[in-house]
Amino acid sequence: MSAWYTYEDRLRDHYLAYQLLKRKLRPTFVKAHIKTISQHELKAIHYAIHLHGPSNGQLPVVKTIPASRESFLYLTLFLSIYQITSKVDTQSQLDVPAILFAWDYFHRTFEHLIPEERPYGKVRPANFNEAWVLAQGMRKGQVALKYCPRCRHNYSVFYESKVRPVCQFCELADANVNSFRPNTP
Ligand SMILES: [Zn+2]
Repeated sequence: MSAWYTYEDRLRDHYLAYQLLKRKLRPTFVKAHIKTISQHELKAIHYAIHLHGPSNGQLPVVKTIPASRESFLYLTLFLSIYQITSKVDTQSQLDVPAILFAWDYFHRTFEHLIPEERPYGKVRPANFNEAWVLAQGMRKGQVALKYCPRCRHNYSVFYESKVRPVCQFCELADANVNSFRPNTP
């Protein structure tokens, strides 16, 4: 370890690792962000916090996160909180404190509606790993927030997903109007 790496640096990295692992961020993601702590040690910290090892399942992929049209509404909310909270350009950098804030706020708001394990519901991100890859996706240009001049809301676009890059608020409103039948109960 280099001499310039001070005790305070180490303490700061460990505290951040603790914050991320407490929210069950996969050690692979933590390691990519915090270079100074070994994968082995990260797994040990995860174990110390949760009394079990990290999940071995597939890492979430941005384009498969939106499960339904309603998911886009939740995703837009999450991404908006992230973008508003962030003090950096989220299209070029990852803002970890903003991800932590946005996820904690989102999770607190929808806590009883989010199944954090598969099968997931329409409330996405379903867990902190999804929140993390969404923020990464924003930086990589895989996902973006756009402004809809028609309803004057932001909406999210997932460029590699199968869903058309249109405002889902307006799509949902149109779908509801079109399915309206005056005589049905
Ligand atoms: Zn719209």
